[in-house]
Amino acid sequence: MSTTEMKLVVVGAAGRMGQTLIRMVHGMDGVRLHAAVERPGSPFIGRDAGEIAGLGPIGIAVTDKPLEAFVEAEGVLDFTSPAGTVEFAGLAAQARIVHVIGTTGCGADDDAKIRAAARHARIVKSGNMSLGVNLLGVLTEKAARALGPAGWDIEILEMHHKHKVDAPSGTALLLGEAAAKGRSIALSENSVRVRDGHTGARPQGAIGFATLRGGSVIGEHSVILAGEGEQVTLSHSATDRSIFARGAVTAALWARDQKPGFYSMLDVLGLD
Ligand code: NAP
Repeated sequence: MSTTEMKLVVVGAAGRMGQTLIRMVHGMDGVRLHAAVERPGSPFIGRDAGEIAGLGPIGIAVTDKPLEAFVEAEGVLDFTSPAGTVEFAGLAAQARIVHVIGTTGCGADDDAKIRAAARHARIVKSGNMSLGVNLLGVLTEKAARALGPAGWDIEILEMHHKHKVDAPSGTALLLGEAAAKGRSIALSENSVRVRDGHTGARPQGAIGFATLRGGSVIGEHSVILAGEGEQVTLSHSATDRSIFARGAVTAALWARDQKPGFYSMLDVLGLD
């Protein structure tokens, strides 16, 4: 077990999650903010990271040089974009440090590059870093296993704020994967992600998704198991982004003592 404060870099420091991460790292024992990174050309370069996050000055200027920051640090907290995350995974591998990835919307190519980086970096990636959603995933898997496809249909409903750019949400997909695991099927071959027009009847065993966008909603997810004459709904509401930031810091501290590899929040939380 490491006993010194873990030096962490926040990338995407001026984003919604970046600011939340800076406040969380600043206020938590056992971790210290080492650097804050934004992309070259960002208007935030050179500004104090604490001021951007609403803490007041903390003496750390936002930089556009991630590798310089990573080689002196032990971990990076990354809630940015798929392109950014792929780049940061390569740099985290070069620096041989922990890379906690909350970014959603990564495609298969992105995921292959991230997994390759996990040969040298300790990577924890999850579509949702909160304890509550990861527990919901475990419950969803159990419910899907218990309530089989002959009598029960599974639909996943999510709502997020109007700025969100990917759909379905990383969390909805995480819950879909959990349901598919419970039924021993591949989500990619059994999901219905959009419905429009004359769709025909629902295919048996399909896992359906529905996406709502609007306002400032941080994250609402429901897994609906619909049977004949009865319905079970498992749901989670996020009311504060700090749940994701706390999970990300917990993941960094956990991964500090692990071998290079690719891990999920279920590993971190011991829920697997
Ligand atoms: P946001 O407010 O748009 O922040 C993203 C930040 O990352 C911005 O500052 C952006 O800078 C920066 N960025 C993007 N691409 C970059 C790159 N290539 N290099 C450097 N910086 C880059 O978004 P958000 O709401 O914080 O969400 C960020 C991501 O986290 C999304 O994928 C979201 O779905 C995900 N998320 C995950 C969880 C979880 O628990 N896993 C929870 C909440 C959100 P620019 O403005 O210059 O592009």
